[in-house]
Amino acid sequence: MTATSRFDISRLEAAQRVPGKPRHKTREVKVGSVVIGGTNPVAVQSMTTTDTFDVEATIKQIHALEEAGCELVRVTVPKPEDAGALSAIRAKIGIPLICDIHFDYKMALAALDHPVDKIRINPGNINKAGDTTNDRFRQIVRKAKDKGLPMRIGVNAGSLETEVNLKYGFPCPPAMVESALRYIEVAESEGYRDIIVSLKSSDVLVAVEAYRMFAQMCDYPTHIGITEAGKPPYAVTKSAAGLAPILRDGIGDTIRSSLLGDPGPAIAAAFVLLQATQRRVRRPELIACPTCGRLAIDLEKIIAELESRLNGKRLPVKISVLGCIVNGPGEAREADIGIAAGNGQGMIFRNGEMVRKVAEAEIVDALMEELARWEGENAHRIPKVAEGLGRRKLPVVAG
Ligand code: SF4
Repeated sequence: MTATSRFDISRLEAAQRVPGKPRHKTREVKVGSVVIGGTNPVAVQSMTTTDTFDVEATIKQIHALEEAGCELVRVTVPKPEDAGALSAIRAKIGIPLICDIHFDYKMALAALDHPVDKIRINPGNINKAGDTTNDRFRQIVRKAKDKGLPMRIGVNAGSLETEVNLKYGFPCPPAMVESALRYIEVAESEGYRDIIVSLKSSDVLVAVEAYRMFAQMCDYPTHIGITEAGKPPYAVTKSAAGLAPILRDGIGDTIRSSLLGDPGPAIAAAFVLLQATQRRVRRPELIACPTCGRLAIDLEKIIAELESRLNGKRLPVKISVLGCIVNGPGEAREADIGIAAGNGQGMIFRNGEMVRKVAEAEIVDALMEELARWEGENAHRIPKVAEGLGRRKLPVVAG
């Protein structure tokens, strides 16, 4: 670049070199054994699809979700028999149980008589139309307070109060945030602050802006999600399109990926999102090129073998495996461990240095050996839960 460049290069020199924003500061809210907010890892949650009163089926599905890594689970409670099943369900599961209530405040009060860990309500459909005293909402808040239980105030663009919609014209981000803030103030007037907030919309742009606006005004932790995202694979991409910018802004304390069908795959999708945005790094990150005509090794075979040997490893390590020398050495140097392939061989890198060359057939073994060395050298840096530490050159990402 010459001194007479028409571009203002000084702007680049002064720019922040490490990308990303710090986590938005939120207060901590305890949900059973899981703490949401603060510097705690963004917790992954899901919701059952069974009839809650079908205790056996609900427990079976929750066990499958736990197996998939789900950390909090929500069940719907639309009828008295669903509330009646909560105790039996709670007794047989290992993660906090959240009851989900819509429309009927009496169901909320009934559910709170059972050993749940949190209640989720949508105040927009709980209050009696035109009741400005928020009597029904207040009754739920008082009971949750008496029981020492937290509450999610779940604002949804599809069910905002008429008054707010009339004020803003339609269910836009400021309307959603004002709705949330109104209910927060009502709860606070009851001396209640164990609140988590969600601002969901099936419109990605609306949801992203609502969460951003809310984070600028409030320190209550947020449950993030793109509601009614639809059927995979479109829904996975749609959720990522909304949740990634929210997470990259440092917003979000618990996450739910809403996909049509079996809730299990949504757990994996949420963890991938947290990993890709570096908010919660808990397994090896495998960098692989898409391959092209320059490919010098059987990359697909190597990646498949490597994935299977890395399966179950809870190591926040970055491994780069590229098919030729175009970008291979550069990526390998930026990763914790890497290879760059050329002429049927692999140049093996560890901590940015080339440590040896091996034949193609030995690449996977060599990478696993280097991984064991990396693990030994970095044991003191790896948190017990093996989460958070992500990148060698970029700063450690906590949580
Ligand atoms: S790293 Fe090499 S083989 Fe892989 S996509 Fe790039 S140029 Fe092609």
